[in-house]
Amino acid sequence: MNKIRGLSRKIDLFSLRLRLTIGIGVVSALGNGSIAIWMSWKMQQILINSQKNHVEQIAARLPDDVKLYSEMIPLETGLQKAINNLTNTNSFLWVQKPNRQILAQSTKWHSLSDSTVAELMSKSEMPIKPEVYKIGQRYFVLYGGSLQVEGKVLGKLFIVQDMTHEQTMFLAMVQTLWIASILVIIVITLVIAYYVKFSLQPLRQLNQMTEVISAKDIAQAQLHLDHAPSEVKELAQTFNMLLSRLSQSWEQERQFVSNVSHELRTPLTIVHGYLQSVLRRQNNLTETQKEALETAASEAEHTISLLKNLLDLARADSGYLHFQIESCVLNDLVAEVVGMAKNYSERTIQVEVQASCIRAKVDYNRLKQVLLNLIDNAIKYSEPNTPIILKLNQQQNQATIQVCDRGYGIPLQHQSRIFERFYRVDEARNHTTGGSGLGLSIVKTLVEGMGGSVTVHSKLGEGSVFTVTLPI
Ligand code: ADP
Repeated sequence: MNKIRGLSRKIDLFSLRLRLTIGIGVVSALGNGSIAIWMSWKMQQILINSQKNHVEQIAARLPDDVKLYSEMIPLETGLQKAINNLTNTNSFLWVQKPNRQILAQSTKWHSLSDSTVAELMSKSEMPIKPEVYKIGQRYFVLYGGSLQVEGKVLGKLFIVQDMTHEQTMFLAMVQTLWIASILVIIVITLVIAYYVKFSLQPLRQLNQMTEVISAKDIAQAQLHLDHAPSEVKELAQTFNMLLSRLSQSWEQERQFVSNVSHELRTPLTIVHGYLQSVLRRQNNLTETQKEALETAASEAEHTISLLKNLLDLARADSGYLHFQIESCVLNDLVAEVVGMAKNYSERTIQVEVQASCIRAKVDYNRLKQVLLNLIDNAIKYSEPNTPIILKLNQQQNQATIQVCDRGYGIPLQHQSRIFERFYRVDEARNHTTGGSGLGLSIVKTLVEGMGGSVTVHSKLGEGSVFTVTLPI
């Protein structure tokens, strides 16, 4: 049962492969079935006709025989004698007057029971059709016509031909024909299923090749299918053109973001500097003016950080984000980051270290940026009275730094997407916390640039743990 369920899950009901297989299978079944039906019908007709011919020969001979006998003996005795003469193991004859009274009938026919004979005779009351009549376990062909001797109508002649043997053979043949047809249909369907799978292979290959193309290698990506059918090759060529156009526009967009971020960052930094200096030096500002300047300075700072993130991402995309990898003592780095975080937040930050000297090959400043981002998020997305915990561990050939909070947590369906650019979970809450949705994508880019990885474990309402794994 489980196997069947597993198989049905594997079979894609909307796949081209299944549709083609079923379509061609049904057409071949219809074709085969029609041929088998037509052959059965034709064979039955041939059989009936051959029996009919035989019966008609008997019917043609009877008047001559009756005439011959009647020259020697009375007509009725002659009729009986002629009928007996033409009766054999398979033929049964009788002549009846228009008032249904039997004039003469076969008497030597012992192979049939009386009830069968009576039933056969009763058929003479209906119009007789050229078909096989089944009575009990036996099959018959019936003939009816008038009997005329020397221009005088003697009565109605009926001839029954027993064709049980031929019909049984015919039915056995039809059965064999159907079994053979069903087997042929099964074999054809299996062959078709394999052929369709084989024919669709290039499309699957194309799909697999396209699936692995990422934003990074889009510029070099080219799809080549040497032995594919022309239609699939054309599709691959169209894909290649599409990829090249995509790569161009991707490059233009990257260039644009990079240029705009760069151009905006410098004047904005100057504006921020002036705002800070005015705030620091001018003592005669009114409360409203001070508030306005502080808001402007904070917005400028936020925008500068956003532009810096955008610039970093654009650089990473173009491969211009360089790392100065060296062996660093992570304990010092963690202590420094905690010190920096405490400068701008009053949150309790606990540090749990497994060993006094854990080293890793990292870019010191970039890793600081990563941890500050994670701590900043942990502070933003948890209540002020909950602590933030930093855990530093070493396992075999890697070091891990975990940033844990007891905050709001992240719903499971969002966890795989939070590292995407501009992805934010709860827009309503995010509005109050600020941010742009770029922090975690920067974290991922930087950690992966250093040869490490970052993962998240989170439970709604209980908190989140971000784990950065780094090579030793
Ligand atoms: P943002 O600038 O919005 O903080 P991030 O890329 O840093 O952007 O984070 C993306 C989203 O992931 C956030 O909007 C937030 O919803 C969620 N998130 C990140 N860190 C945490 C955390 N420690 N706890 C709960 N949610 C988090």
